[in-house]
Amino acid sequence: MENYERLLDRARQQVPPEVFESKRFDIPKSVIFVEGNRTIIRNYRDIALALNRDPPHLMKFLMRELATAGVIEAQRAVFQGRFTSKTLDDLILRYTKIYVLCPECGKPDTHIEREHRFQFLVCEACGAKASIKSIQ
Ligand SMILES: [Zn+2]
Repeated sequence: MENYERLLDRARQQVPPEVFESKRFDIPKSVIFVEGNRTIIRNYRDIALALNRDPPHLMKFLMRELATAGVIEAQRAVFQGRFTSKTLDDLILRYTKIYVLCPECGKPDTHIEREHRFQFLVCEACGAKASIKSIQ
């Protein structure tokens, strides 16, 4: 067993460091608390930052899906109504699939371009350009 681990160590040392540095894409889980009839995501800005999207864009999507009003306050997002972190995480994942991940290659290295009334998800990894619906 010890030999095997030593072997593994040696194998690791032979792998160029870039392999371990490849960018990982993690969506932070929402950290929430419910206060009266309001639900607050404490790490809202971190989530938008991890997704590389404008905080108001994600906010618009969440408010529409939750059918409620809300406001961004510094790091936090505050929604009217009581919601669970599961509900919010599911919606954030749905948002990610529509507005972040490239439909062609699945990578998150994308940005949104606006042309007139139309919006496109443009992939910096493979160059794909897909039209997306604007959030009403
Ligand atoms: Zn792509």
